Amino acid sequence: MNASMKEIRYRFRETYRMLIVVVLLSIAGLVIEFVFAYMYSSMILYTDVVHWIVDTALEIISLIMFFIISKIYRKFDWSVFILEYMISIFVILVVFGFYILSLIEYVSAHSTSMMEPSTTNIYLAIITVIGGIITFITFSIEKKAYRRLKTEILKIDSTHAIIDVIVSIIVSIGIVLTALTKNLIIELVVVLFVFFVALQTLLSLAKDILKSILGFESNPHLKIELVSRLNKIVSDKVVLGNVELKKIGSIYIAKVEIYLDPKTTIGEAHKLRETVNIICREVSELIYHVDVVFYPKKRYRKVRKSEKQYSRKY
Ligand SMILES: [Zn+2]
Repeated sequence: MNASMKEIRYRFRETYRMLIVVVLLSIAGLVIEFVFAYMYSSMILYTDVVHWIVDTALEIISLIMFFIISKIYRKFDWSVFILEYMISIFVILVVFGFYILSLIEYVSAHSTSMMEPSTTNIYLAIITVIGGIITFITFSIEKKAYRRLKTEILKIDSTHAIIDVIVSIIVSIGIVLTALTKNLIIELVVVLFVFFVALQTLLSLAKDILKSILGFESNPHLKIELVSRLNKIVSDKVVLGNVELKKIGSIYIAKVEIYLDPKTTIGEAHKLRETVNIICREVSELIYHVDVVFYPKKRYRKVRKSEKQYSRKY
């Protein structure tokens, strides 16, 4: 393994370690807010808990993704990834479902009886301030790690975190105002604000899943450049086959098929795979994982032919 591949491995492993810390912080924030939401049945806190759940699920997705791609030479298992996406969407939808039911119940109960908000304790703002501090710690960890490791996911996550710090300041002010004025309308405005912040994140996650399932948004310019750069490895012993580029969130996964002279040694093939890995990463920093699949060159035509027969049959 040469120096640049070693460096990539190091960056991915370190990013993975950072994401573990981020997920643990997120779970801590989630648990703290949930306990107080439950104790004081504050609708503002409950809504903030839904936001924490959505964000934690997103971070766990990034974590698992980095666990998979940090094993650079292992084949990327696309189906596991989609399954993971589906499960998290399912969990989030169940949480949202329960939440919307309790929101309806809350609105009907509070508007018909006494017009009193559910958040009456001013000190509950301390909880959302603590949540904001945890989010700020996450932000600074990610920002510092991004400067060192330059993995794009850390930059995207840190931007999300700083927005959430602002959200938690707004929510804390909202709790104080609601508790002081005992005004149901103020509470409803705060609740809806947090709800839409969480919904926004959920919708962008759903969009990513749909895109990766349908195979959209692979960058055609990037692919052309990649193929032209990869053509440099072509020789009388090496034929470049199909090149695929898939996008998940902000990163790309590449699959490169290579037809090799059957006399090629394993050592040569290994070196070739490394070269392909380096070329892919030279083309774009955002290509995080490369699957290199070798086929014997003699079978190149035969494979194509049998594929055609197969598709004609069915
Ligand atoms: Zn968020």
